[in-house]
Amino acid sequence: MKTQPFQLTTLSQSSLQDYVDCAQRFKLRYLDRLSYPAVETEPTLENEKHQQEGEYFHRLIQQHLIGIPAEQIAKFANTPNLQRWWENFQNAKDLTSLRENLSGLYPEAALSAPLGKYRLLAKYDLITVENGKAIIYDWKTYRKRPRNEWLSARLQTRVYRALLVNAGAHLNNGKPFEPEQIEMVYWFADFPNEPARIPYTTAQFKRDWDFLVKLADEIASAASYPLTEDRQKCLYCTYRSYCERGVRAGDLEQAEAEMESEELFDVNFEQIGEIAF
Ligand code: SF4
Repeated sequence: MKTQPFQLTTLSQSSLQDYVDCAQRFKLRYLDRLSYPAVETEPTLENEKHQQEGEYFHRLIQQHLIGIPAEQIAKFANTPNLQRWWENFQNAKDLTSLRENLSGLYPEAALSAPLGKYRLLAKYDLITVENGKAIIYDWKTYRKRPRNEWLSARLQTRVYRALLVNAGAHLNNGKPFEPEQIEMVYWFADFPNEPARIPYTTAQFKRDWDFLVKLADEIASAASYPLTEDRQKCLYCTYRSYCERGVRAGDLEQAEAEMESEELFDVNFEQIGEIAF
């Protein structure tokens, strides 16, 4: 029996990034909902553990930002990675104001706005609003510090900033933020004093939103979903045996060395579970 493709109503930075990286991956993941659990990198266990610790770390910060004392949180940072990341978070100079001032903080903020036929959704690790300036924080547990140019071009950076302009008025006394009031900060748990600070301008916002609308239209009217021509992308893709693009998982060290594969180790916010404090 032939199953009907899933009727997609929402888009996110992850689904848009998948579409841009490989239309076929977008189709398999979001339209066919095909679960094809090939391992993405070797060694599998090490990568899985890192991923789980990254998710847990996000939850620890979130709990702290809603008021759980640092001493209590520290008890849950119970692996070498978590301990180091938590200490780095506590000591990072750039985050002093976050730790000391718990007002104007919006951890786990979720924003959405219409985008063509869809709704564009984003869940933010943290948005802070102070003195007319909004800062989007995103916590990263990458083992390597990515280049700022790579981060700036990611759909996450483009979606998060543009959506805050279009859907964040309630965080600014009912008035939409000007792009120039917005900055995105990637804070790296293993590189605590090297955050990436990415400002925003009206020209960038216009370019980003036009691009997103065009992309949503293209997705809505897509008649085919070609496999990417960049076979490097298949090396770490969960669907590679389905697409007959290789069986063995890409090597973790190689993936890191290439620096275009950080997203493998990214945290999917929706997968983060609760921790009982
Ligand atoms: S294996 Fe390659 S072609 Fe197939 S979905 Fe993944 S990235 Fe696309």
